[in-house]
Amino acid sequence: MRQVKTEWQKRPVDLMFREGYELKTQGKCPTCKQPINVEKFRDELSWKEYEIAGMCQSCQDKVFEEAVGKCPECGLPATHPSGLCRDCHQSKLETEEAEGHE
Ligand SMILES: [Zn+2]
Ligand SMILES: [Zn+2]
Repeated sequence: MRQVKTEWQKRPVDLMFREGYELKTQGKCPTCKQPINVEKFRDELSWKEYEIAGMCQSCQDKVFEEAVGKCPECGLPATHPSGLCRDCHQSKLETEEAEGHE
């Protein structure tokens, strides 16, 4: 059972961003300052990330999106090395196969 974490170990970064640390101990996201909703975490990976950085799912998505760029087809994070998201990459492959390329 996932529970909002309110006891956080102080990291060097917390000394610089005291406010962020305090938000975390109040069960809030240090980035958007909204209360953490544990239901929102999509998977185990997001949850692990939360346990490390304390960020909510939507802030994690934003950071991720900035890091990897956006899929030109649907605007979701481009999670595939081809520059598309996995879904679009997959459907593109299927279309190409259906059309008889390669
Ligand atoms: Zn947030
Ligand atoms: Zn896409």
